[in-house]
Amino acid sequence: MVAGRIIRPHTNLAATGWRHTSTLARTFGVDELYQAIDWLLQRRNRIQGKPEDQKCDVTAPGRAVCSSPMRPHILYPLFEPVTRLEGVGPQTASLVGKVAGARAVDLLWLLPSGVIDRNPLPSLAAAAPGRIATVAVTVGHRQRPHSNRQPWRIGCRDDCGERLDLVFFRAREPWLDRELPPGARRLVSGRIERYGEALQMVHPDHITHAGGAAGIPPVEPVYPLTEGLTTRTLRKIIAQALARAPSLPEWQDGAWLERRGWPSWNEALERVHRPRDTAMGTHASERLAFDELLAEQLALALVRATRRQVSGRSVKSSGELAAGMMAALAFAMTPAQDNAVRDILEDMARPHRMLRLLQGDVGSGKTLVALHAMLTAAEAGHQAALIAPTGLLAHQHRHTIRELIAGTDTSALLLTGADRGRVRADKLDRIAGGEARLVVGTHALITEGVDFHDLALVVVDEQHRFGVHQRLQLGAKGRHVDTLVMTATPIPRTLQMTEYGDLDVTRLDGRPPGRRAVETRALPLARLEDVVAALVRAVHKGERAYWICPLVEANGDDGIAAAEQRLRHLVRIFGARAALVHGRLPAAEKEEVMERFASGDVAVLVATTVIEVGLDVPEATIMVIEHAERFGLAQLHQLRGRVGRGAAPSSCLLLYAAPLGEAARARIDMLRRSDDGFEIAEQDLVLRGGGELLGARQSGAQRFRIAELPEQSWLLDAACDDARLVLARDPELAGERGRALRLLLHLFERQAAVRLLESG
Ligand code: ADP
Ligand code: MG
Repeated sequence: MVAGRIIRPHTNLAATGWRHTSTLARTFGVDELYQAIDWLLQRRNRIQGKPEDQKCDVTAPGRAVCSSPMRPHILYPLFEPVTRLEGVGPQTASLVGKVAGARAVDLLWLLPSGVIDRNPLPSLAAAAPGRIATVAVTVGHRQRPHSNRQPWRIGCRDDCGERLDLVFFRAREPWLDRELPPGARRLVSGRIERYGEALQMVHPDHITHAGGAAGIPPVEPVYPLTEGLTTRTLRKIIAQALARAPSLPEWQDGAWLERRGWPSWNEALERVHRPRDTAMGTHASERLAFDELLAEQLALALVRATRRQVSGRSVKSSGELAAGMMAALAFAMTPAQDNAVRDILEDMARPHRMLRLLQGDVGSGKTLVALHAMLTAAEAGHQAALIAPTGLLAHQHRHTIRELIAGTDTSALLLTGADRGRVRADKLDRIAGGEARLVVGTHALITEGVDFHDLALVVVDEQHRFGVHQRLQLGAKGRHVDTLVMTATPIPRTLQMTEYGDLDVTRLDGRPPGRRAVETRALPLARLEDVVAALVRAVHKGERAYWICPLVEANGDDGIAAAEQRLRHLVRIFGARAALVHGRLPAAEKEEVMERFASGDVAVLVATTVIEVGLDVPEATIMVIEHAERFGLAQLHQLRGRVGRGAAPSSCLLLYAAPLGEAARARIDMLRRSDDGFEIAEQDLVLRGGGELLGARQSGAQRFRIAELPEQSWLLDAACDDARLVLARDPELAGERGRALRLLLHLFERQAAVRLLESG
């Protein structure tokens, strides 16, 4: 590591100003690249509902870098704050901010949720009460209100003589005289309501002189609103944003546009926001969605392509250490594990920097695969580190690794936040001296002060619980550190393409042989005592059980109170053989409890969801989940994966509060039907309408501004192919279409990707 060449990840680059950071970017292309990757990963974290990491990303879209001098001038008007638009003060701006965003461009992306058909009807008979209608009427008698609280009523008749009252609260008489004089013919448009015998229209949206329908648009877009913001205001503001949209060169392939019947970008915006009939918006919004997806896929493809050029170093070995490990084990690798190891070792041997995702269901044997990679680095004379999201899991990993490599003369060093004083200093020395080849730890590994002698590989376990930022900090600790991210969250293909598109992916299919399906049953909480009775019998027979208590969101605690209460209940039955582990216990205490569970001292382990990932106690055969209806599908699957790891048959009991809602029932049914994580994840995506992986609460619609997934995944497929094709033909985006595509990237705020081109 060359001091000063690294952009310290904790430096708040956004705050140092754009001009400054872009200079840095030119000087430090590689780090810039990694920050781009960081940004992409952060987005994924956001999607999964995790807190965002500290802001250091120069590449974050929008706000902070609004005035980026990198942005082409032609796009400036679009990226100005909405307050620059006429009639938008701070108050309206904040309302607009709620539905769209802070800049003019955000308004362009606010697609109408529907359209109102204002084509005139022949008569009132064709109007449906409750719906908006446009009819020609002859104005009749005007009924004056008796008090201020009553409205004006103007009795009108359509051409067939049917009556329609126009109703106005607090109307001024001169205005009525002018707009609705008795005997006049008018075209009125608004919501028709039934009022006693008659029909009425309260405050028509439009009133024009019948004859010419001028002034009433035949079709009007409807936008999502927020309290205090009217459709009328919003339309006016959007019209101004539209006027700011410059005419841009076409970035889509001409033949493809023709085949789809898609209009140009400007035309598409126009058709979406100013539709002329009820159907014409479809093609237009499809085109805009495709623009958005293409920008995303192109950015990811650029990051991938550039990363392949980043120099790393070739790490390889003869494989002796790994062979030694396997020789001492009672089992062989599965074909899936063999393939994964081959993928990873090939990647490490290449002279670029590896960034690979190892994706495998719970219990698929990822640790062994990772260990092959780690031993390869160690044998080549470097160091390898494995980082777990919690101290408990780090401890567990060290334990597993120790057993797996017992047959070799290597050892793994565990460093956690619990290490203090002399012990810690000693461990730090061994890491800095290079003596410790395999290091296991938590993020304590990457806090300042831990220096590696020669770190070549970082394995990050259970990425979804781990700050990407921290991984990056670790990356900065070694030159050209290869990174392997392990996740047990099966990622549906749609999500993989958009959210992990920058990583190379190795998928570990299937499970090691000899593992049994976990029998899964659902019971109402009212049967709790039966469950406890069954548990007593099982414990008598020597079985071990997890008992999971959920987060209690209502009172904002982390479920510890509920878990403690459950423990008190179970202690009355199981005595000291019931114990509790939760996130706030001191690390040493947690480890002690886990140790006692692993050894069988403790038979019933009450836990909050802190333990959901990674724990491996093969002897545990029972999983009880209280209030299963509060958990997401993927999360339940993860929890269930904690049992069924040994030879004995295992079971999972889902206790739910009756009556079960429809969504919760679908989740529990799915879980009983399948134990294939990928199938479950796909189903999860369908059930939740997109991407609410692992309990994150955002819906698919929010992931993209325009595109709707998974409904439009065919567009995503096409965008992915197109991005590849584009880069194959014009890797520098220098041709005519390439230059237009750069504009597209800017338009969707993928400046990071554009800068990759410019610094590379
Ligand atoms: P996960 O992918 O959930 O991290 P682990 O790596 O914890 O899975 O592996 C689950 C269990 O399977 C461990 O107890 C591990 O020792 C065992 N295991 C891994 N690979 C094999 C194999 N090829 N054959 C038999 N058991 C295996
Ligand atoms: Mg694991």
